[in-house]
Amino acid sequence: MTSYLTGLIGSGIGPSLSPALHEREADRHGVRLIYRTLDIDVLGVAPEGVGELVRAAHRLGFDGLNITHPCKQLVIEHLDELAPEAAELGAVNTVVFRDGRAVGHNTDATGFAQSFARGLADAPTGDVVQLGAGGAGAAVAHALLNLGVDRVTLVDTDPARAATLATALTARFGPGRARPAPAGELAERLAAADGLVHATPTGMVAHPGLPLAVSLLRPGLWVAEVVYRPLETELLREARAIGCRTLDGGGMAVFQAADAFRLFTGLEPHTGPMLADLGDL
Ligand code: NAD
Repeated sequence: MTSYLTGLIGSGIGPSLSPALHEREADRHGVRLIYRTLDIDVLGVAPEGVGELVRAAHRLGFDGLNITHPCKQLVIEHLDELAPEAAELGAVNTVVFRDGRAVGHNTDATGFAQSFARGLADAPTGDVVQLGAGGAGAAVAHALLNLGVDRVTLVDTDPARAATLATALTARFGPGRARPAPAGELAERLAAADGLVHATPTGMVAHPGLPLAVSLLRPGLWVAEVVYRPLETELLREARAIGCRTLDGGGMAVFQAADAFRLFTGLEPHTGPMLADLGDL
């Protein structure tokens, strides 16, 4: 039986759903895939030690790795090559070992794009306001502009992050497509927007609550969430109650895993059953 050895490097990844998503999908293909979590906190490795772990995994015969917070940028200098999307984004969430080389990919942006295409394909994409310009926000804003959104307005409680991301996106997509806005202008920007993308940790169990006042939502505004644990965040609940079209963060989580599974194994993932698995996990 063909077998694969894979894993995830990051901090605080004990509860990650990635092992189950990948291993269940391998079962459906009749191949054996083992997916280990290599938690830098448990291993006592500093984030800068990610290169040491990647080299060790390569030597031990791993086929590939997923990389998560806080190592997505730090890992780059330890790789032999970057796929175009990872090079553009300056972040890697998947490493494939092949022919003695370590190649970095990014499936977060493609994951969000597929989720959006599945859940909000016909939604208006003129102006989008995105809350959060961190790691997930960088991938999601890139995906939105690739999907044809006219303009993304970035709002982050750390204004420097919004400004830096807007500058990087402008360099990639040209002038007028991405701009930062101060949190104080959120109401005004949302009033003119077609959609809201939420890419901060607010709504996770460790960060309960809402990232903005519910009074800023209105029925014509679509709301896309990046948080996927829980799948139904307070923001999505409130938005649905108001009548907004919504997209949860589960699709992005599944499609990024599916794209990584394809890279690890060369097999075509069954995304329908993977989405159903996420609901059970
Ligand atoms: P991060 O810390 O890199 O970035 C979060 C950003 O949000 C920071 O810049 C912070 O200043 C900003 N922020 C926090 N509260 C805010 C608020 N109320 N308004 C505006 N900005 C605010 O975190 P990250 O890695 O980008 O992760 C964010 C969330 O995305 C997490 O919940 C993570 O689990 C989720 N995520 C989901 C997927 C998926 O596949 N669905 C993938 C990656 C990350």
